Amino acid sequence: MISVVIPAFNEEENIRAAASAISAVLSGEEYELIFVDDGSKDKSWDKIVSASADPHIRGLRFSRNFGKEAAIRAGLEAARGDAIVVIDCDLQHPPAAIPEMIKKWRSGAKVVEGKKSSRGSEARTYGFLAKVFNSMMSGITGLDMSGASDFILLDRAAAEAVLSYSELGSFFRSLAQYVGFESDVVYYNVAAREHGGGSWTFKKLFAYAAGNLAAFSAAPLYISIWLGGLTVLVSVILAVLKLCGVGLGSFSAGIVALMLIGGLILSALGAVGFYLARIYSEVKRRPKYIIASETKERK
Ligand code: UDP
Ligand code: MG
Repeated sequence: MISVVIPAFNEEENIRAAASAISAVLSGEEYELIFVDDGSKDKSWDKIVSASADPHIRGLRFSRNFGKEAAIRAGLEAARGDAIVVIDCDLQHPPAAIPEMIKKWRSGAKVVEGKKSSRGSEARTYGFLAKVFNSMMSGITGLDMSGASDFILLDRAAAEAVLSYSELGSFFRSLAQYVGFESDVVYYNVAAREHGGGSWTFKKLFAYAAGNLAAFSAAPLYISIWLGGLTVLVSVILAVLKLCGVGLGSFSAGIVALMLIGGLILSALGAVGFYLARIYSEVKRRPKYIIASETKERK
């Protein structure tokens, strides 16, 4: 069976269209669609409930907005398929690419990634930011994140592996690569959003980027260590010059050095605090999501 996981946050206008477009491409298969309502404020849940009249469709509803990553995880946990496809609800990921993904899965790939070959009508700045973020992630994690998205097919084994990474701040599209397994790629064009605006604000995007950077790398910590070392070196050189009687203009040099060191200490502390906050949220072992209701009993 093929499971399709569809995270949905304020998607009332897209649920019906997504359900029928995805069902249409899976007509020859045994399949299930799992909508995960990530605490929508609109009528998304009602739409999911009415769509679930179709025995292929079911839904989970979070008690509040826990974020897309949590919604994907909940969907993966609920999925019963031998392969699980994660796809956006706004039809920006073309359902038409799903049969190709399934084909690649049947010929042996355990992870089939949808890669963006164009970013469609997304705002230029957003596309640019996404590019910067993806190449930063690629450089730091050593995974190829160019054009990466959450439009991914996972074999059951790969899905179990992804779920076994139980950290709170996990990042689905990176984990899907990180777990290894034989992988393949399907290219797609980003379609325009059918209805409603994207729900990402700059603040949300920044938090997402920073959080996921920290989830995969301790680089910010190392950067501050290197910067700290460099500052020490510079100040030793300055001190030696001073001792040798090279004129540095005593007062201003002192102030500059103080400021530099102060700034470095603050930024290093900031980096430590950032990771500390993550450790804190991990050790609390809070649930990643809370399900308030389900359309059907889980078997
Ligand atoms: N989404 C979600 N929780 C959130 C934000 C978004 O489940 O807090 C879902 C949303 O309904 C959509 C997908 O994640 O199915 C991608 O969201 P969006 O279209 O806003 O983002 P973008 O296409 O810009 O990545
Ligand atoms: Mg979208």
